[in-house]
Amino acid sequence: MSTDCIFCKIIEGQIPSKKVYEDDMVYAFHDISPAAPVHILLIPKKHISSAMELELADMEYVKQIHLAAQKIAKQLGIDEKGFRIVNNCGKDGGQTVSHLHYHLLGGRNLNWPPG
Ligand code: C5P
Repeated sequence: MSTDCIFCKIIEGQIPSKKVYEDDMVYAFHDISPAAPVHILLIPKKHISSAMELELADMEYVKQIHLAAQKIAKQLGIDEKGFRIVNNCGKDGGQTVSHLHYHLLGGRNLNWPPG
């Protein structure tokens, strides 16, 4: 855990969040500023700053995040019509929080390419 990381604080319950899923490795909650009818953030319980910091030993987190995304998609009823999983990495990628996170977006027809 990183003491100055907002997402670490959310995992620890020091900052409130609308949790939709949690297991040993993954925490998922509604994005505070939704960009689609369903907008969930999935984060590893280990503090990893970005996709560029991922190491081979961290891949179990990535695997479990994808499996959690499947469960949440079913839970929130977007599994049949489809959804998008997005990771923003670094400044030009639009990353604003330095704790690895994946956006799960659905509930409407999503445009491509993103802006
Ligand atoms: O990919 P990016 O770093 O821009 O995504 C961060 C996301 O975290 C934003 O969509 C923002 O709305 C969300 N957020 C949140 N709760 C917070 C702080 C940020 O849901 N307390």
